[in-house]
Amino acid sequence: MNKKALIAAAIFLSGLLHGQRRGYWQQYIDYNIQVRLNVEDNTFSGTQSIRYQNNSPDTLNTLFFHLYFNAFAPGSMMDERSQSLPDPDRRVGNRISGLKRDEIGYHRIEKLEVNGNSPAFDIQGTLMRVDLTEPIVPGAVAEVQMSYQSQVPKQIRRSGRDNKEGVEYTMTQWYPKMAEYSDRGWHTQQYVNREFFGVYGNYDVHITLDSDYVLAGTGVLQNACDLNQMVAEVYCRKEVDGLPPTEPEQTWHFRAERVHDFAWAADDDFVIQHEKIDSTDLYFVRLNSTDRESWEVMAALTVRMFELMNKEFGRYPYPQFSVIQGGDGGMEYPMCTMVLGNGAKDNPTGFMGLVVHESVHSWYYGVLGFDEQRYPWMDEGFTTYAEDVMMDMIFNEGKKINPHSSSYRSYNYLRSKGWQEPLTTPADHFSRNRSYSVGSYSMGSLYLSQLEYIVGKETLRASLRAFYQKWKFAHPGPDDLLRIIEKKSGMQLHWFSDLWTGTTQGIDYALDDVRSGGKEMTALSLKRNGDFPMPLEIRITTIHGDTRWIYVPTDLTTIPKKGNYTYAEVWPWTRVSQQALIPVPFREIQEVEIDPYGWMADTDRSNNDWTKEKEK
Ligand SMILES: [Zn+2]
Repeated sequence: MNKKALIAAAIFLSGLLHGQRRGYWQQYIDYNIQVRLNVEDNTFSGTQSIRYQNNSPDTLNTLFFHLYFNAFAPGSMMDERSQSLPDPDRRVGNRISGLKRDEIGYHRIEKLEVNGNSPAFDIQGTLMRVDLTEPIVPGAVAEVQMSYQSQVPKQIRRSGRDNKEGVEYTMTQWYPKMAEYSDRGWHTQQYVNREFFGVYGNYDVHITLDSDYVLAGTGVLQNACDLNQMVAEVYCRKEVDGLPPTEPEQTWHFRAERVHDFAWAADDDFVIQHEKIDSTDLYFVRLNSTDRESWEVMAALTVRMFELMNKEFGRYPYPQFSVIQGGDGGMEYPMCTMVLGNGAKDNPTGFMGLVVHESVHSWYYGVLGFDEQRYPWMDEGFTTYAEDVMMDMIFNEGKKINPHSSSYRSYNYLRSKGWQEPLTTPADHFSRNRSYSVGSYSMGSLYLSQLEYIVGKETLRASLRAFYQKWKFAHPGPDDLLRIIEKKSGMQLHWFSDLWTGTTQGIDYALDDVRSGGKEMTALSLKRNGDFPMPLEIRITTIHGDTRWIYVPTDLTTIPKKGNYTYAEVWPWTRVSQQALIPVPFREIQEVEIDPYGWMADTDRSNNDWTKEKEK
């Protein structure tokens, strides 16, 4: 096919693929990156050619690139922000300000061509703006050629060399990366603290460095059989007699498809363990000195987790996933994660929680590419929600009634401190790190567990699977999930989403009084102390020990949840108190409790129950 026909076919195909997502479009990118890393002075030179397809209805006059490594130099915005926050990340603190010349990170762009022209470009901090000499019209493809000289920073946050466990290179956010352009325009946030957003496409990456090094990362290794013995045995499953002829340098060739980033790590002391489930290869890459036994336990549980995730939340679509020792805690990347590795021995359950969390990001980050500056609570929250479910399934056979209890605790702590900020705050703009983290991880998880409370577990889980299926390899927002849950439940739910993410209103219901409501009836006096309305589930326990569930609907959902309930009258949200009449004689009632299992994020549970003894 000629170029025009190829483009037409690509647009047609992407139309087919996205046909079920009416009106939705996204940009498409192919990276071809070649780098040579000098392990003596930690610099590298790179050339990359990019094929960028403008699927938007807009004519683009500029392009933007992230140069993340520029954040690791004294006086950078990351440095300044870290030093002005009341609760800076201890890993950053004021460490950037102390970096020496040979410890900072940088990218120096040496050549830039777009469709054969050499446009002007301007770099501010971690962002490069390219002013195109010829615009890129809708449907057109731009070929970008660039070359650069870069230095790997001493590891401060996520990326860099020589992490605290001695991993030499954690190469994340490491190359000039095209910013995403969506229906909201360019996503040009500086690298101040966190959260990335990228264009989906394919990566073809050649990395040349000293032959002693072993690499792991995003993508499938294309030339494993030609590399050193250990690598050939693990990746190429080939028995190798003796070492192949040793050159001083060798080139590792990776390919990754339908991902929005590419990360890798390298060390001359890496060892690799391989596991397989169905069509997915799992690799566990650690320093030889890191405790082998505890990593083997983790590997077995990770295999189990992938099986469970596939079943509960949707099938992992990539051929490979790697857990790699590197970074400064745990951080997700497409097809891999970088984790500190010694926790496996020191704190196995905590470490497993970390590996589960980062792996689950493959679903909520990797496959569903949320806008992490705008919706960090989807990215971290949905991950935390599924992580809790996985940890409960792995360690408790899924028997916990509410596996998300720690999110409720963190949320209540944040509120008690007065630090809650609306979740609509862009990720880097929260006034405290704590407000961001509890907001994103805990409140984001509670977003789902509250919806689970409102619509029921089966409906919520089925909706999450449908959401994953419909929006894979794309950038959905909260409404895209809500519409699916609304259709499956028949309920109206936007009120919940708007209040939970756009305000700091809290839920607090109280049971004021329980008394006879006439012949064979009991009257419950209910009070809404918080601004945030919710439907109520109330458990009645009789003096015979029987239980009965009462459901008090809110007008907001328009219909109640189906279930084995006795339905009380609808409680309009504008009303502060409500009487619920229930068909159980007062003399038979022993105890009444609103939401006894603590599903609702009620900020004061002390006023939720009533027992007969109390009345004496
Ligand atoms: Zn996370």
